Amino acid sequence: MPLENHEKARFLLHQALVEGISPEDRRWLDAHVGQCAECGPYADLSARTVRALDGFAFELDPAAALRVENVVRMRAEEMKSAESHAKSLWIGTGVAILLTFTGSAVAWHALASLASQWNLPNRECQILFTAFWLLPSFLLALLPLFRRRLLGEHSDSKGQTI
Ligand SMILES: [Zn+2]
Repeated sequence: MPLENHEKARFLLHQALVEGISPEDRRWLDAHVGQCAECGPYADLSARTVRALDGFAFELDPAAALRVENVVRMRAEEMKSAESHAKSLWIGTGVAILLTFTGSAVAWHALASLASQWNLPNRECQILFTAFWLLPSFLLALLPLFRRRLLGEHSDSKGQTI
């Protein structure tokens, strides 16, 4: 039997399972499968496979579906809440940095006038001011952004299971 007939038969078998075939193709396929030693067992195996797959169909427990839906909804709300929390952290950090530099400018003005009254060297005053006022204030302003990393909270998962 020509190879093209086997290929055509298998193509029609697959097509018949998925979307159906014309009556003319069905007659040709049935005639071929009935007399072909290769395509007959293949058609039988395909039919048994499809029946077995139908056996895997199962009813979904409505309570389980509801639990899954609730968990997905809660997770989405947590993510939305975490997103707004992160946004407020950035805004708070920006305000803290602004206040740090504004306060530092005022403090520097007062310290510079004191240093000039006491005849302290200007360079050393700048270094001391940077080391003991500006740098700690700036690091404290950035602290909320790195709070999770510093506290070891790498994941925002709460370990919930369904
Ligand atoms: Zn064949």
